[in-house]
Amino acid sequence: MAEQESILIICAHNDDQIIGMGGTIAKYAAEGKKIHSIFFSLGEGSHPHLKTEVITKQRYFESKRADEILGATSIEYLGFPDTKIGETIHDRGREQIKQLILQKIEEHKPGKIFTNATDDTHHDHRAVAKLIQEMIDEEKISCAVYVFEVWHLTKLKGRHLPKLVVNTSEYFSKKIEAFKQHKSQWLVYYQFIWKLYFKERINGKKNKWKYAEVFYKVN
Ligand SMILES: [Zn+2]
Repeated sequence: MAEQESILIICAHNDDQIIGMGGTIAKYAAEGKKIHSIFFSLGEGSHPHLKTEVITKQRYFESKRADEILGATSIEYLGFPDTKIGETIHDRGREQIKQLILQKIEEHKPGKIFTNATDDTHHDHRAVAKLIQEMIDEEKISCAVYVFEVWHLTKLKGRHLPKLVVNTSEYFSKKIEAFKQHKSQWLVYYQFIWKLYFKERINGKKNKWKYAEVFYKVN
């Protein structure tokens, strides 16, 4: 049997990939692909009433559980402070961070990389997207790179870009189950969960499926 493709997800926060591509992760995992996620931050800033270390630990375990539900292979956390990813990339040295990402790419040898989109409305998401886009422009990344959007139904500038549409109908419930593991995020969950149904239902309908996730190919 041919060795299955490895997938690398590089995103700002530990729930971005669940919101943006949870169904696709579950589908790829069911196909036997190895899925590795790298988060810059655990989104610890989302809970102003709890001590940072408490929320960091909680969010790490939430991510682990969510990952297990989806069947993904590994998660890694780079320890960047939430809401300050752009500044921290600058402070730690842009080139050093690119080097670190390159090491991870070397290690996992992905066939596809998934990451945040450069026109996302959240500045942390944009900071990660910009870094990866620079690495593409500098020809440091040679494999296919796809971007996903997190909450917002943004009008992606790249509508002309090639699209990857994944039929996630069978995996939508798994995605929701994984998302529910982020209990420290319950407020966000109740505010925005309808968007997931709405967006993925619309994307699905266009293809005569129940649910679909859409990605844009930037490399
Ligand atoms: Zn995020």
